[in-house]
Amino acid sequence: MAENRPTPPDVDRVAASRAAVAARRARAAVKAEIAAGKRTPLAVLSAAIEHPDGVEGRLRATEFLVSIPAIGVTKMRRIMTQLEISPSKRLGGLGKHQRDRLREFLANRTVSRRGSTDAHLVVLAGPTAVGKGAVAGYIRENYPDVHLSVSATTRAPRPGEVEGKSYFFVSDAEFDRMVASGELLEWAVVHNAFRYGTPREPVEQALASGHSVLLEIDLQGARSVRAAMSEARMVFLLPPSWDELVRRLIGRGTESPAEQARRLETAKLELAAQDEFDFRVVNQEVNVAAREVVDLMNLRKAPSLL
Ligand code: 5GP
Repeated sequence: MAENRPTPPDVDRVAASRAAVAARRARAAVKAEIAAGKRTPLAVLSAAIEHPDGVEGRLRATEFLVSIPAIGVTKMRRIMTQLEISPSKRLGGLGKHQRDRLREFLANRTVSRRGSTDAHLVVLAGPTAVGKGAVAGYIRENYPDVHLSVSATTRAPRPGEVEGKSYFFVSDAEFDRMVASGELLEWAVVHNAFRYGTPREPVEQALASGHSVLLEIDLQGARSVRAAMSEARMVFLLPPSWDELVRRLIGRGTESPAEQARRLETAKLELAAQDEFDFRVVNQEVNVAAREVVDLMNLRKAPSLL
């Protein structure tokens, strides 16, 4: 009962009010960083989700939104209503759906604001063994302006693969942690075996600084990105023929026969999904396909290009 609660001694009250002032200052500093473009709103939201009781987590959603350049009070109110977030909510106290809606809103905003510049998020998907990795590798070597996302995976490195360049090779526990803390833009279990995911922060940072980003991911991941970021351009890499796809898969020789059969089954299903994509590129020759993908990174989405 409230009347039985002891009054804190004066010295505690002084310390508490000092702490409150310090916390307010820290929150003001975060808002100033967003306003100055030093931190992206998405990065601040990620920090809030990771540490709900930290400075970012204690930031009210209303204050957070108005600190974003070009969002005033009227627009902020409209956004709060649209995202179904009550004005008293702090970022760290948002429910999962509210967080997802806010993140999607911010991500779409980043991408559409970038839509008028040359920076685009491009998703390269396609059936297994079509040569997505080779095309992405060619782009990495020959088009240094293109930022290639490095995925996290729970599978072991193959010979020649380099940590931090081919993938971030992580344990199951580490992958669990990344999923739980919202660090991944998308993730999927691929070929019923290992988990693969796209780290969110580097993608957002690259787009925010005006660099196009290429994600080479599987079909499930591509669908998740499309759902979260409608502005992303979806590119499907096709083999010249089905026989050629089979030849490429067997020829790689890195998988067991059982694994090959499983991947061919997956490839059949994956090929059927090509109509879901904005653009299709045939991988006859890696350098030509790479060039086409890079060209698509700078084109506007237009029906005539489908
Ligand atoms: P591999 O094990 O041969 O390197 O890759 C297997 C599959 O995982 C490929 O189809 C590749 O596109 C996909 N993949 C790689 N990184 C990601 C990722 O971050 N997310 C998703 N969803 N798929 C990925």
